[in-house]
Amino acid sequence: MSSGFTSAAYIISAVLFILSLAGLSRQETSRDGNIYGMVGMAIALVATILSPSVSGIGYIIVAMVIGAAIGIRVARKVEMTQMPELVAILHSFVGLAAVLVGFNSYIDHGELAGAELAVHLSEIFLGVFIGAVTFTGSVVAFGKLRGSLSSNPLMLPHRHKINAIAGLVCFLLMLVFIGNDGSTFSLVLMTLIAFFIGWHLISSIGGADMPVVISMLNSYSGWAAAAAGFMLANDLLIVTGALVGSSGAILSYIMCKAMNRSFISVIAGGFGSEGIALDSEEMGEHRETNPEAVADMLKSSRSVIVAPGYGMAVAQAQHPIYEIMKKLNDHGVKVRFAIHPVAGRLPGHMNVLLAEAKVPYDVVLEMDEINDDFEDTDVVLVIGANDTVNPAAEENPNSPISGMPVMQVWKAKNVVVFKRSMNTGYAGVQNPLFFRENTEMLFGDAKDSVDMILHAI
Ligand code: NDP
Repeated sequence: MSSGFTSAAYIISAVLFILSLAGLSRQETSRDGNIYGMVGMAIALVATILSPSVSGIGYIIVAMVIGAAIGIRVARKVEMTQMPELVAILHSFVGLAAVLVGFNSYIDHGELAGAELAVHLSEIFLGVFIGAVTFTGSVVAFGKLRGSLSSNPLMLPHRHKINAIAGLVCFLLMLVFIGNDGSTFSLVLMTLIAFFIGWHLISSIGGADMPVVISMLNSYSGWAAAAAGFMLANDLLIVTGALVGSSGAILSYIMCKAMNRSFISVIAGGFGSEGIALDSEEMGEHRETNPEAVADMLKSSRSVIVAPGYGMAVAQAQHPIYEIMKKLNDHGVKVRFAIHPVAGRLPGHMNVLLAEAKVPYDVVLEMDEINDDFEDTDVVLVIGANDTVNPAAEENPNSPISGMPVMQVWKAKNVVVFKRSMNTGYAGVQNPLFFRENTEMLFGDAKDSVDMILHAI
């Protein structure tokens, strides 16, 4: 294929990627968005493999077949609740690829000299730096989301100073690297320091800020890909990386606003997350209820709001909840769903589950649309949600989640919390809601509890 054809194919792919992002921004067009993205990527891959600058096509095909086989297997097996950890580990691959491409470009930087060489070396240095931070950061995010690493923030003393010094040393190493027309020692040392920075930045971030971390790492992986694009002189990789990098940054910013967090504090690695959580002993006694009593309470109410969270996703309780909703509607009870922007483990998690259970869109309301209605509600069913309904965020300025907007479920006449124990949620903070006078706990797997209530109704 001539280079003209390759360029034309790249332009078509770039346009398809832009259409894909536009499609993915709305629920109704997201399917089309996915298709544009897949077609764009297929064209990009074929055009790259057949481009005149590529040799060793046999190796590429073998690598692609192995990669595709692993990818298909993983995609088939992954549960919806494991999606964020899969995304995190995929980001780590992008980071590692950028590091490898960087070292490769350094070892084989051709006949460049003077200003051209300096520019190329800066591309290499920055690409390896961003890639290395993305790699270890994403591996830590993967471990935290999977539960193999604690979601509590690592609080090293002087951690901001450590980050600042590490960043400064990397900058000095860059001057040495470019000034000496390349220096293996500087590049290797910087890579090790950047691995440390990625690990330390993400380890310092507490559980409640993880949604922002994931979209931020998404953005970093985009910039790492763009840097690889510069090193390889591949225009499409630059465009794609820039699209991912900037859309990830915009998403992180929107999420920070939704969670009332400062963007800079989150990316600086847990700035301002030095809150102190109260112990459950300081909160008093909680009360328990049973499915029959909840069924009676629901039948005698006029309005009910369901506040779902991660536990509903784990238990797969959305289907029987919809059945309960239909039964209650037959009894003349109004049932609606309240969705917190970070409920579950990925943005839009609850909306997807409820849509899958065929709950109509018009009774599924965003937190801002429904937060004022809790006061006039007879019963709120908090199903496997915890951090997103924690009054401490509003009432306790020392709480680690202080300032994060929450659903004011405690304002309703009665609240029933479905969970298995008194354990904390993802942010690791105890919830005073469970100890309020109008709250009753219904312990057990959320699906079993909901099934029993359905049966009793
Ligand atoms: P939480 O993680 O705060 O709480 C979930 C609750 O569900 C737990 O308290 C758990 O209690 C309960 N639970 C788990 N399994 C079951 C089950 N089978 N049956 C019944 N209950 C169950 O979830 P929320 O949705 O309220 O909040 C989301 C949290 O996750 C926030 O802190 C958010 O910042 C974070 N996060 C969000 C992401 C996003 O993009 N949306 C991404 C990453 C993190 P128990 O163990 O006692 O049963």
